[in-house]
Amino acid sequence: MTDLLTPATTARVGAVRDAFRAGTTKPLAWRLRQLVALRRMLVEQGAALEDALATDLAKSPTESQMSEIGVVVGEIDNTVRHLRRWLRPKRVSIPLAVAPAAARVVREPLGVVLVIGPWNYPVQLALVPLAGALAAGNAVVLKPSELAPATSALLARLLPEYLDRSAVAVIEGGAEETTELLIEKFDHIFFTGDARVGRIVARAAAEHLTPVTLELGGKSPVFVHDDADLVSTADRLVFGKFLNAGQTCVAPDYVLATQETAGRLLPHLRDALTRLYGAHPEASPDFGRIVNDRQFARLTGLLDGVRADIGGQTNPTTRYIAPTILDGVSLDSRLMQEEIFGPILPIVHVSGADQAIAVISAREKPLALYLFTESRTLVRRFLRDTSSGAFGVSIPAAHLLVPGLPFGGVGESGIGRYHGEFSIDTFSHSKAVLSKPTRPDTLKFIYPPFSASRDAFIRRFVARTGIRRSER
Ligand code: NAD
Repeated sequence: MTDLLTPATTARVGAVRDAFRAGTTKPLAWRLRQLVALRRMLVEQGAALEDALATDLAKSPTESQMSEIGVVVGEIDNTVRHLRRWLRPKRVSIPLAVAPAAARVVREPLGVVLVIGPWNYPVQLALVPLAGALAAGNAVVLKPSELAPATSALLARLLPEYLDRSAVAVIEGGAEETTELLIEKFDHIFFTGDARVGRIVARAAAEHLTPVTLELGGKSPVFVHDDADLVSTADRLVFGKFLNAGQTCVAPDYVLATQETAGRLLPHLRDALTRLYGAHPEASPDFGRIVNDRQFARLTGLLDGVRADIGGQTNPTTRYIAPTILDGVSLDSRLMQEEIFGPILPIVHVSGADQAIAVISAREKPLALYLFTESRTLVRRFLRDTSSGAFGVSIPAAHLLVPGLPFGGVGESGIGRYHGEFSIDTFSHSKAVLSKPTRPDTLKFIYPPFSASRDAFIRRFVARTGIRRSER
């Protein structure tokens, strides 16, 4: 089942396409069987998946259950529960000009979906899109990240054992292999990764006019207002930031706060770190490691010449970077130029909410924005005056656990969305279906020749308002 790309890959993609064309993936029963089998794989092979994630990212088994396996299981359960209803054609009303008639929106599968996964949540971010694409009735080619090699190899071995291998193919490889894969024509490409590669994927997709979903990253800001409860703020920031050693796309990237609030927050952050990871996080089995030497060098480079208020220790042998917090970081600092994607949290001083909104709005639109405040007025202001993929009030990252919420970015943080019914939307075509009885043939009133009386009739019709009085 596993292949490094060769001409055989074209044959593999072709075989999956044949399964789609043969109608294999369309019946609801097939879709549900795949979802249930995927869920069974996650439960039966939980230990193997935990081991692979520990090998790739030193994730603790509990964290793997919570943030990888459990998220996929939650998505599958929600989808299995509601899929029949989501797929039901939706009737829509008929304007007078077309009546009598019946109109409905029918969701049809797109065909063959290519899912390209990242390394940071190599199970969740490969399998949640896979589940959505299968639920929508598609065949799938999955390309896991080569930078989480143990997980990639395990998925390549397990998925064919559990899923219909005629319609689901796993192809392993890195940039070179993905470049080749992108030459093939797909019906949708679902990519999670960074914006540079996202552009490469979008360009390749444009050749075939293939629609793309791009789940990208960016710097997700936090504003801590003066009125925030600093104990829970610190706990939640530390948990959201240092989960997976900060290698989380929706992790808080930087904190904005007044100097006074930052000064009060800092000791709480220190306490929270000790509560969650002990006095020596390097010894904590719950604190992860940096994925590879390249990322380790990039992150330690960001710390060159800066003084950490908390943490700052590193160990190249184990690729350990201590949970690190720096207070009073300048907006011009290198830490503020690129997505950090590691266990380093800068705090930037602002004069208050107005400046925080100005700083956020002057930058690319982030994947998420988190506001810690008790003020509903301030929440409304941020909602109105800022743009982000998601918005969390007093809670970072957890929006992705709510299947009713769309997950995706805006602007530089991504294109499109998924999770729950949004996945069905993403991986389906909404087909307009209109059927009009042949009798009575009301259309004859609008056919040429356009006599004066017919012209008057049509003009009266066009001038009629379709807007209800309440909407005027
Ligand atoms: P990446 O873009 O380096 O890699 C993602 C995938 O693209 C991998 O499967 C890789 O093999 C492939 N790839 C790499 N270079 C390629 C090329 N030149 N041509 C074609 N394919 C190529 O991303 P990553 O390092 O795995 O993940 C980190 C980034 O992803 C961060 O920016 C993070 O914020 C973002 N991210 C976003 C989300 C989200 O849900 N929005 C989730 C996780 C990560």
